[in-house]
Amino acid sequence: MSKIASNLQIDSARLWDTIHETAKFGATAKGGVRRLTLGPEDKQVRDWFRNACEAAGLDVQVDALGSMFGLRKGRDMTKPPVGLGSHLDTQPTGGKFDGVLGTLAALEVVRTLNDAGIETEIPICIVNWTNEEGSRFAPAMMASAAYVGDFTTENILSRRDAEGVTVAEALDGIGYRGASPVGTQKFSGFVELHIEQGPILEAEAKTIGVVDSGQGVLWYDGKITGFESHAGSTPMRLRRDALATLSEIVLAMERIATTHGPNAVGTVGEAVIANPSRNVIPGEIAFTMDCRSADAAIMDALDADLRAAIAEIAARRKVDVTLDLVWRKPPTHFDAKFVDTVENVAGALGYSHRRITSGAGHDSCNLNTIMPAAMVFVPCKDGVSHNELEDATQADCTAGANVLMHTVLALAGVAS
Ligand SMILES: [Zn+2]
Repeated sequence: MSKIASNLQIDSARLWDTIHETAKFGATAKGGVRRLTLGPEDKQVRDWFRNACEAAGLDVQVDALGSMFGLRKGRDMTKPPVGLGSHLDTQPTGGKFDGVLGTLAALEVVRTLNDAGIETEIPICIVNWTNEEGSRFAPAMMASAAYVGDFTTENILSRRDAEGVTVAEALDGIGYRGASPVGTQKFSGFVELHIEQGPILEAEAKTIGVVDSGQGVLWYDGKITGFESHAGSTPMRLRRDALATLSEIVLAMERIATTHGPNAVGTVGEAVIANPSRNVIPGEIAFTMDCRSADAAIMDALDADLRAAIAEIAARRKVDVTLDLVWRKPPTHFDAKFVDTVENVAGALGYSHRRITSGAGHDSCNLNTIMPAAMVFVPCKDGVSHNELEDATQADCTAGANVLMHTVLALAGVAS
C-alpha cells in the first residue's frame, strides 16, 4: 500500500446508511428485499444509484443491457480503468447485502477518495451489472456473460420472463436500455466485494475471504423410464420402479460427492413424477443434478463416477436412465497478481483472512475470462443468503470496503 493512503478508511456510517437507505426499494415485511431485475423497484434503486454517482462527480453510462458504469477520471486517461462493483438486483425473497454491498461499497470508495482529494494514476469505474440473480430472466449473470462475449446482445434481449416479457421490453419499460453497445467500457481489471453466502469465514472467525477460485458447474437433465403398474398386485421382485431408482441415484450422488470432497458438492434439486398416483408404481421421472468443484479433474471424476453408478443401478433395476449434460462451466482461477494484492492489503490493514473458493457464481467469474479479476468476501450470519434473513455486521462490511478500496488504490496507483 502506498504511504499516502495507508491510513485512509472508508466512512463506515455512511456505507451502512446507504445499504439501509436503498433496502427500502423492494423492502419486505420480514426485513429482506424483493427487487427483481428490471422491475419497478430495480428502476428505483437504479435512479438512486445514478443520482449518487453523478453527485460524486462520476460520468455515468448505461449499456444496451442496462448495466451502469460510473467513471472517475484518473491522471492517465489513456489507460482503461480498474473496475469495481457488483449488482443491485435481488432474489424474490432476497436480503439487503447480496450484490448490494459490493455495489454500494464501490460508491463509498469513490466518496472517500473524493473527500480525501486523492487522484488515482489510472481511472476507476464503478459498475452495477444487470440481472446477476437470474430469477426473472435466465441465465444468471447474463450482462457480464454478454460483456465477455459468451452471448450476443440480441440473444440476451430476446430472453423472456415467466410472463413472456422480453429483456428488451423490460429495459425499455424502466428506461434503462442504454446507448452504449455492450463491451464499450473497457477495464484493466475488476475487483468485486461480496458476502460469502456460506458459513466458512464465520465458523473460522475470519474477517476477509481472499477469493482465489470459483467452482465449476455441471448441470444435468435426467430421465428414468421404468414401468407403471398396480401398487397392490405387482410383487416387489417384478417391479421397475422409477422412484426407487431415483432414490438410489440420489444416494449415489451424495456418496460420490462426499468421496471427492471436501472440494466437491452434488445435489438433486428437482424431481417430477409423471402422472403421480397413490396406488401406481412410478413409471417415469424427470430430475436434475447440479455438481460443482473448483478442480477440473474432480469435475471429470464426478461425471465419470456418476455415469458408472447410474449404469449399474439402471441395469440391476431393469429401467432406462438417460443423463444429459446441459451446461458445463469450467472452474474459475482468479488472477494471481490481483489475488495476492487482496491478500497483502487485508494483511496490511490488520484483518484476519484466509483464501477461499466461491461456491456461488459471480459476475467476476465471467469477467476473469477476459481480464484479471479478484473478489473479496466478508462473513454473513450463519452463512445464510438468498433469504430475507441474510445479515452481515457493519464492522465486517466496513472491513471489506476498506480492503476493496486499498486493493483498487494498489492496482490503479495514486497520482503523485
Ligand atoms: Zn450476488
